[in-house]
Amino acid sequence: MTPVAALERVVHCLDRAHDTGFKTKAFVRALEVARALPPDELAERAKADTLTELDGIGDSSATVIQQALAGGEVAYLAELEAKTQLPITPEGAVYRNALLGDLHMHSRWSDGGATIEAMARTAVAIGHQYMVLTDHSPRLTVAHGLSEERLHQQLADVATLNEQLAPFRILTGIEVDILEDGTLDHGDAVLSQLDVVVASVHSKLRMGSKEMTERMVRAVANPNVDILGHCTGRMIGKRDPSTFDPDYVFAACAQFRTAVEINCRPERLDPPRPLLKMAIDYGCYFAIDSDAHATGQLEWQPLGCNRAAEVGVPLDKVLNTWPVEQLLAWTTQT
Ligand SMILES: [Zn+2]
Ligand SMILES: [Zn+2]
Repeated sequence: MTPVAALERVVHCLDRAHDTGFKTKAFVRALEVARALPPDELAERAKADTLTELDGIGDSSATVIQQALAGGEVAYLAELEAKTQLPITPEGAVYRNALLGDLHMHSRWSDGGATIEAMARTAVAIGHQYMVLTDHSPRLTVAHGLSEERLHQQLADVATLNEQLAPFRILTGIEVDILEDGTLDHGDAVLSQLDVVVASVHSKLRMGSKEMTERMVRAVANPNVDILGHCTGRMIGKRDPSTFDPDYVFAACAQFRTAVEINCRPERLDPPRPLLKMAIDYGCYFAIDSDAHATGQLEWQPLGCNRAAEVGVPLDKVLNTWPVEQLLAWTTQT
């Protein structure tokens, strides 16, 4: 294992453990330093024990680099590999084993921390056949949302990567913002070119229930929208779910064949169980998505799988258990 690969894997494991603290930041920084350095210099410094003289390399990252170069086990990494595994129930494992892809994730093009290629290679490594790249849309300026022009550049990059990664498929997509009146921040001309469109509310989450219901139903009814992302917008322990009439929203999801996302982010786990049960009763489709912003977060799907199993989501209604052709036929048709 090269030092860069070892550091990448450390960051991956810390990400999947949702560690956003000082330790993760320090390893991300060390990874940047190691990447920027000629491999020879890294090896010479490891031998001379001068790695920590480099700005950004501390004792822990220096040890990882030294052990990686020595060719044996990287102790800290081995410990992380074991203790950051995602917990999955036997029932949840049935769902996870059925998943062929992930339909919601971000790259460095918006507010993610990894390149498209790194996300795709990780998706391959965890057994996926396809993924949908859904960076943010322009309204989310804090997340460097993609203008039409940048989106077109991204599509060209994705086409090149697809040639290299075949038979794995990166499907094109976006996480489009549901504006206050229920319209979206990209028009039909843009959205209709993409394979999969996730639409989510990111602003004015506290509006009245009636207005929020109208806003969401309008978005769900848009023929270009395939998936309703993290429907309540809750952040567990930090932000209450927004209020809307779930009967209208889920009836609309079923009627217009817009899937309800089961968002796997540990701080979201959205929708909450009672709403998830309602969506099942309305006959909705579902997507169990990581909403990953880093490679390690692609491993969060077990969290949604456990919940899906708990409330009895019909497995054949989960879009990302379908082969890619079936998924694409569904998203173009509805
Ligand atoms: Zn979102
Ligand atoms: Zn997202």
